[in-house]
Amino acid sequence: MDIAAAKAALMHLDLDDNPAAVRAKSRDFFWYSPVLKDRLDHLSADFVVMPKTQDEVIEVLAACHAHDVPVTVRGSGTGNYGQAMPLAGGCVLHMQNMDKVLEISPGRVVTQPGTIIRELDRITRDQSGQELRMFPSTAGTATIGGFICGGSGGVGSVRWGMLRDYGNILRIRVATMEARPRILDFTGRDLARVSHAYGTNGVVTEIEMPLAPAYDWVHVFLTLDDFTHAAALTHALALQDGILLKLATVCEAPVAARYFQRFRGHVSDTDSVIALMVAPHSMDGFLSFLSHEPGARLIYRSDAHDWARDPGPAYEYGWNHTTLRALKVDPSITYLQVRYAGPDLLDKVGAIRARFGDELIQHLEFLRETGVMTAAGLTLVRFSTEARLDEIIRIHEDMGCMVFNPHRYTLEEGGRQTVDARQLDFKRQADPKGLLNPGKMIAWDVPDWDYSRAYDYARMRH
Ligand code: FAD
Repeated sequence: MDIAAAKAALMHLDLDDNPAAVRAKSRDFFWYSPVLKDRLDHLSADFVVMPKTQDEVIEVLAACHAHDVPVTVRGSGTGNYGQAMPLAGGCVLHMQNMDKVLEISPGRVVTQPGTIIRELDRITRDQSGQELRMFPSTAGTATIGGFICGGSGGVGSVRWGMLRDYGNILRIRVATMEARPRILDFTGRDLARVSHAYGTNGVVTEIEMPLAPAYDWVHVFLTLDDFTHAAALTHALALQDGILLKLATVCEAPVAARYFQRFRGHVSDTDSVIALMVAPHSMDGFLSFLSHEPGARLIYRSDAHDWARDPGPAYEYGWNHTTLRALKVDPSITYLQVRYAGPDLLDKVGAIRARFGDELIQHLEFLRETGVMTAAGLTLVRFSTEARLDEIIRIHEDMGCMVFNPHRYTLEEGGRQTVDARQLDFKRQADPKGLLNPGKMIAWDVPDWDYSRAYDYARMRH
């Protein structure tokens, strides 16, 4: 790796090698996990380049390829599994200057990857009355490229499913990491080769996303004093075909009373909270549904409320924002990502609650998976030791609940614990020297890694 030669070749671009600035731009939200904090806190790249055009991206990749310098792409660094952490140093390719929205037409938008998601949504609304089908709860800060490459779904998934589902991304353009980088477009089934690949096999330079009709969503909070009832109500509501929702979140007591500061005076320690986004024309249907639920109390609706301090969008209490709010108040909290599926999904949640008691606090996000309602459990965990965290995960799996481990930074360990042959195959073609975000794809480094082994890859490598 010849850092000095690569820097010299790229000095005419927007390049920063001030150590403090480089360290700041080398960090993401890995610290969410006490395990990753331990493993990744010391890392920093050697320099940062902020390209303004696809041609500049090509220039950076060619120079880094020539001098064997690793490249880790960065959107806004809000990924919470250390996806954007430069394990091998080298160059951080920061996409913030590639933020142009290129084309909007019925049902679709073409954009550069560095566009901030909320801004992209605002522009499509203003110019065409359409909105993004889904976005992460970090829409206010995260980029669309980071979402495609490092995220999975979120606000909107209750209606549209997850990013990986057919039709939720239309086209991705990538630059390869070769002596002469190529520009390739991926559509249809081939999207899976480069989406959610943590930038390990290409740099995304353009994205085409589907759009839906835009609504002035009504943000709603309900309380119930029984979590089992609250979860069943949210599930039943999410299944109502005639009521258009963009968010269906439920948090067990005392999450709201303890961690949602603007809820003070509106909730008690025993209140479980439901957070919803309801289309304005669905409010009547929603209120009719609610009239059959005497235990539910509507405490807030964004179109008519008397709260002295506006709580802000409901989605900033859902998805991983729930964890963030808890962490701010109690740094000993960490979390899991559990998949609850099947007709007995709420029974599984009940069994997990009974098994762990106070050690876990439930937080469910309802989402559609090929026409079936499932739930993502972004369960809050009172962290004690890493060994106990591993044990909690194993017990979930033994009880039939799949866990996407958020305390691992590799693609495979945070995913389905298997090699993705499509991504690996494309990496062989697009990054033959293995310079893109090294260390994040186990299949590239150790093709015969045994995923059934109980220890983690990072610990074995270092
Ligand atoms: P980064 O963190 O900068 O990058 C993410 C990954 O993508 C990295 O591996 C990076 O190398 C790669 N990458 C970025 N840009 C490119 C590119 N142009 N080409 C190739 N690779 C690239 N995620 C969800 O899916 N849903 C949620 O609801 C959600 N909620 C969150 C809430 C909180 C409070 C936090 C901290 C995180 C949450 N996340 C969620 C994770 C994360 O915020 C999102 O996935 C977000 O979209 C990442 O965007 P980013 O611009 O910050 O990407």
